[in-house]
Amino acid sequence: MPRTASPRSVSLRLAPLVLALASAAAGFAHAQGGSVAAPPAQVRPEVDKAYTQLMAAPAIQKLLDAVKADHDRSVEDLKMLTEIEAPPFKEQKRAEAFLARMKALGLSDAKIDAEGNVVGLRKGTGNGPKLLISAHLDTVFPAGTDVKVKERDGKLYAPGISDDTRGLSVLLSWLKVLNDNKIQTVGDLLFVGNVGEEELGNLRGMKAIFRDNLDIDGMVGLEPAPDGTVLMLGTGSHRYEVSFKGPGGHSYGAFGQVPSAIHGMGRAIAKIADIRTPSFPKTTFTVGTVGGGTSVNTIAPDARMAVDIRSDDMAPLLETEKKILAAIDEAVAEENKRWNVNTLSVSTKLIGDRPGGRTQSDTVIVEAATRSNAAFGHKTLLTGASTDANVPMSLGIPAIIIGGGGKTGGFHALSEWIDVTDGWKGAQNSLVTVLGLVGVQGTSAPLLEKRPPRKN
Ligand SMILES: [Zn+2]
Repeated sequence: MPRTASPRSVSLRLAPLVLALASAAAGFAHAQGGSVAAPPAQVRPEVDKAYTQLMAAPAIQKLLDAVKADHDRSVEDLKMLTEIEAPPFKEQKRAEAFLARMKALGLSDAKIDAEGNVVGLRKGTGNGPKLLISAHLDTVFPAGTDVKVKERDGKLYAPGISDDTRGLSVLLSWLKVLNDNKIQTVGDLLFVGNVGEEELGNLRGMKAIFRDNLDIDGMVGLEPAPDGTVLMLGTGSHRYEVSFKGPGGHSYGAFGQVPSAIHGMGRAIAKIADIRTPSFPKTTFTVGTVGGGTSVNTIAPDARMAVDIRSDDMAPLLETEKKILAAIDEAVAEENKRWNVNTLSVSTKLIGDRPGGRTQSDTVIVEAATRSNAAFGHKTLLTGASTDANVPMSLGIPAIIIGGGGKTGGFHALSEWIDVTDGWKGAQNSLVTVLGLVGVQGTSAPLLEKRPPRKN
């Protein structure tokens, strides 16, 4: 429910926040970097109440101690899963290993769905909200990449270790400590290790989760990020492969009789280059690659280009896409008209499709994360990127991505690393964020609102 500022809101000006200022830096693997909105300066009284109750409850303190105590074991899960390669569309082996761990830690009904996601439901007491908590199984690294974990200077190095295998191992640790400590949440927790987050995957895993589960009320995803970071904006993108085809011919002999695929594409690029887009919401485009032609003395029979379009909002994304597609059609018509022919044609193929959206900064889910961060002495930094959260955001379902603890870097590079020293602190913080949203029986009421089920 949208909320207007109320004098009853609780101020978040807590002393530890000042100390934490220095640590606020953007660091999502897929981030555009920097703050995209001011964090809420105040939160609803019920948000403040829930986190005050949680932090004061002996059962929750015991649970947080268990997160710390489980740290070393959790790092073993991290290493084990990291060393199972998971290239896009080839996540199955890692999915099976993750599923086996989920079952061993108490989610006996967990399964792999038709898309390849690992899904397990930890039921609440009933009538509470259903919160999806997730990390992605896939990495950007192709099959055959050396994924052996190497320890050096107190850091663990391996492709994919922080993005997003750390998230997977944190989910498993949460599952273990919640079960060991018999914590009964009010709402349901849907544990998911999903496929298809990285580029060519086009969020296929998350799209399937939201297609198959029409009753999800919110999402908290885990990705490598400094403590206090809350991602609440999902940059959408559409990508096209565009192919121009003509008869081709000799550059001298056929001159005047045939259109050129390359000239037609050049006309299109010139038109695209002149398109204006808003700077807010940031909307961008580029012709990223071009190719085509046969030889210097051939009127080109073929030409192709790839176009990337992005925006922080769907409407300007779709508008820019419309202009680009129109520019391409106009360019082909002009090239045909130039030679008084009709033999140049074009085809476009959507090769990338990530919906976009945002979770407003005054929603309960963002306030909850902000209040939980404050409880752990962290100032909240609101950021944006293209992640799994794009899918719920595009559906209007509250979604955020937060860190799971540990210092991380080198995402998408072979030198990717994580320093897990004190990483349990971030795992505690994000778990508390989640518990406030679903509520804990006998301690706090759920903050996340139950939504009417969606229709497909
Ligand atoms: Zn990631």
